Amino acid sequence: MRSRLRLVLAILSVSVLLGAGATRRAVADEKDGRLDIYFIDVEGGAATLFVTPAGESLLIDSGYPDNNGRDRDRILHVLKDVAKRSHLDHAAVTHWHLDHFGNHAALASEIKIANFWDRGIPETLAEDPKFPERIGNYRAASQNKSKKLSAGDMLPLKAGTTPLSIKIVTASGDVIPNEGAPNPFAAEHKPQADDPTDNAKSVSFLLKFGKFSFLCCGDLTWNTEAKLMTPNNPVGQVEVFMATHHGLNVSNNPVMVLALDPRVVVFCNGPEKGGSAEALGTARRAKALQAIFQLHRNVKLKPEEQTPPEFIANTEPTADCKGRFIKLSVAPKGDEYTVKVQDKEKTHTFPVR
Ligand SMILES: [Zn+2]
Repeated sequence: MRSRLRLVLAILSVSVLLGAGATRRAVADEKDGRLDIYFIDVEGGAATLFVTPAGESLLIDSGYPDNNGRDRDRILHVLKDVAKRSHLDHAAVTHWHLDHFGNHAALASEIKIANFWDRGIPETLAEDPKFPERIGNYRAASQNKSKKLSAGDMLPLKAGTTPLSIKIVTASGDVIPNEGAPNPFAAEHKPQADDPTDNAKSVSFLLKFGKFSFLCCGDLTWNTEAKLMTPNNPVGQVEVFMATHHGLNVSNNPVMVLALDPRVVVFCNGPEKGGSAEALGTARRAKALQAIFQLHRNVKLKPEEQTPPEFIANTEPTADCKGRFIKLSVAPKGDEYTVKVQDKEKTHTFPVR
């Protein structure tokens, strides 16, 4: 009798545990039909989190390593506490620089990462003598199962009611075929010295959700931007453009930015990195431009050279920075989106053109 009672109790407690687990999972995956994009502040690196209407999560880049886990913790905070996700379905790397894949391995030891994506792994990297060691950690974290992204590939995402896609438009220096309408700004291209670094090989992601579109090109540099966008524009116009390469002036070629004609530009800059006067000036020249957001005030520029304070997430130098993020949220039909800077009152609303 005692043992039967114990058996009944055991069965009961197991089913209670299973039930609680199922409830937690349901809550974690619950979504409101919106597509959310979080620009996480990693002090001049990059870490952009997407949560789709189907509840899937994608992190593109993961900030700097070290600094007592500063960037890893900021990413985990936004993922778990803000976006309410327990794991990452996809983690992508635009290119093999430290401010972009600094925390993939550290994140993998804290949470489950189902799929790793990158441009392919080179044996060595001329600009980083420590690359073999760093890439060893990445290989271990991804259990050597990272998948290679090439220009023209589609990143597989679960479909919802509104069509959602991510197309790779550049990778490893290759670009998608130069089809589409002629780029009216093509003649503005003034080539710069060729870039031998991994920046020029960045993976670029073109996201479409209904009529909404968003482009992130990692740290792609000037001549590859022109290779993609001239003489024709195969990308079309985009609603939101993440300024390339933290907004440095060796990227954000006007032939690209003006042809994309974004309505909103987000600069993932640091206090002393990116957010350059040249790139800000180019973004302002876009005809459709409505707003520029910056993760950081550029401490070297005058206030009038950058976006107004209400559009800047962090004004302090790195030592005192609170690491505030910017959240962009697209309505379920992809016809309208909002942008909100953490801790600021105002939510900015934009209809999709
Ligand atoms: Zn970078």
